[in-house]
Amino acid sequence: MADDTIFGKILRGEIPCDEVYSDALCLAFRDVAPQAPTHVLVIPRQPIESLRSAGDSDQALLGHLLLVAARVAKQEGLDDWRTVINSGAGAGQTVFHLHVHVIGGRPLAWPPG
Ligand code: AMP
Repeated sequence: MADDTIFGKILRGEIPCDEVYSDALCLAFRDVAPQAPTHVLVIPRQPIESLRSAGDSDQALLGHLLLVAARVAKQEGLDDWRTVINSGAGAGQTVFHLHVHVIGGRPLAWPPG
């Protein structure tokens, strides 16, 4: 299978998710281990492993993911939120299918750990 990650399985409907937004290019669903009252993941339907493996041809898709992240934050009633993209295991990436975290609903400290 080309995208044999847990997110690939979610996209193929092989395992369930708590969906909050969907369109032809991406899917957004609640993180199974939320780090804040709102914690949503926005993922492209196209299997891109990581931001570090994205290319020029992904420009429009990457912009779309950020706009959907903002849309989801608004949908969740958030005025302030954080978007996070972990790139590589050393930065905390555990699922190697690109995803944008949308985190909010509590004060968020900076810098992150
Ligand atoms: P990262 O560590 O940046 O790769 O983020 C992966 C995220 O996916 C983590 O926050 C996990 O809690 C989340 N996650 C893993 N499996 C699932 C799942 N089946 N449904 C929803 N979120 C998941």
